Amino acid sequence: MENILIVDDSPVQAAQLRSILDDEYAVTTVHTAEEGLHAASCGDFSLILLDVVMPDMDGFTLLKKLQEEVITQQIPVILITSLAEIESEQKGLTLGAVDYITKPFHPLIVKARVHTHVKLYQYRRQVEFQSMTDQLTGVYNRRRHDHYSRVKWQEAIRLQIPFSVCMLDIDKFKVYNDTFGHPAGDKVIVSVAQAAASRLRRPTDFFARYGGEEFVAFLLGDEAENAFAHLKTIRQAVEDLHIPHNPSVSPWVTVSIGGITVVPQPGTSYDTYLKIADAMLYDAKRFGRNQVIWADGKAQCQQEK
Ligand code: GH3
Ligand code: MG
Ligand code: MG
Repeated sequence: MENILIVDDSPVQAAQLRSILDDEYAVTTVHTAEEGLHAASCGDFSLILLDVVMPDMDGFTLLKKLQEEVITQQIPVILITSLAEIESEQKGLTLGAVDYITKPFHPLIVKARVHTHVKLYQYRRQVEFQSMTDQLTGVYNRRRHDHYSRVKWQEAIRLQIPFSVCMLDIDKFKVYNDTFGHPAGDKVIVSVAQAAASRLRRPTDFFARYGGEEFVAFLLGDEAENAFAHLKTIRQAVEDLHIPHNPSVSPWVTVSIGGITVVPQPGTSYDTYLKIADAMLYDAKRFGRNQVIWADGKAQCQQEK
């Protein structure tokens, strides 16, 4: 059931709206704009019904605040106005409201409008989800990686916390495909993605399919040795899946991993470190595959000095 928030200073009006909607939606009611702002940023609402005329903070001011906040700006807002406030509808729509409902309420109209905007919101969320998800594996895709890595890099610069970036690549996968066929290869990609993603589940971890049989991950807040140790457990977990490889290559499917941990400095770019991670991955391949090679950005700087 989708959640709807009603922000209305009149308990009678709020109760009326609730009774129209609560057979189809989980309805939360608050009576001040302040409470509305708080509820909207804490809850998972698919729609907000917002009364324009309220004491203290009016509906327009709250609408503006909702639009300014990253977590609430996507939630559709329907304004509740009376017929006497018709000019204000235009103001509300330019401020970003998706629609308005005039008092007195016609239950069927309220239902229809709410229904339409909840559906549109669901559809938009679904499209957004699909646009950042890899179809085969269900983990994030490269597009999401390219955007999110830059956001997080800036955050790490601001907070001065360690940032670990790593690349992971399935070993001798061409041979696997040639031996077992492409569909079997696809299943391996899914299993490897799941094994790795299930070990990178903290809110500060990110894992994505970079393309083909290659994955990228970044971790925030871990010192180099912890990130290194964690990626070693991921390498082990893939080997422990015991997916038979072509015996001429190795008994099981394995991965090579390269990574680096740094405290990002202003003026540096994520891409520079992604390239270093890729170079570490290349070394892992060169040194015999099925291993993790890690660079400690701090140590590297010390060496340079
Ligand atoms: P290395 O250990 O050096 O990484 O060798 P490799 O054979 O894994 O590397 P290479 O880059 O030569 O080959 C990658 C292979 O991955 C070739 C390509 O057919 C296969 N591949 C890429 N994407 C997919 C996919 O979506 N599904 C399947 N089944 N195979 C894929
Ligand atoms: Mg490979
Ligand atoms: Mg590759």
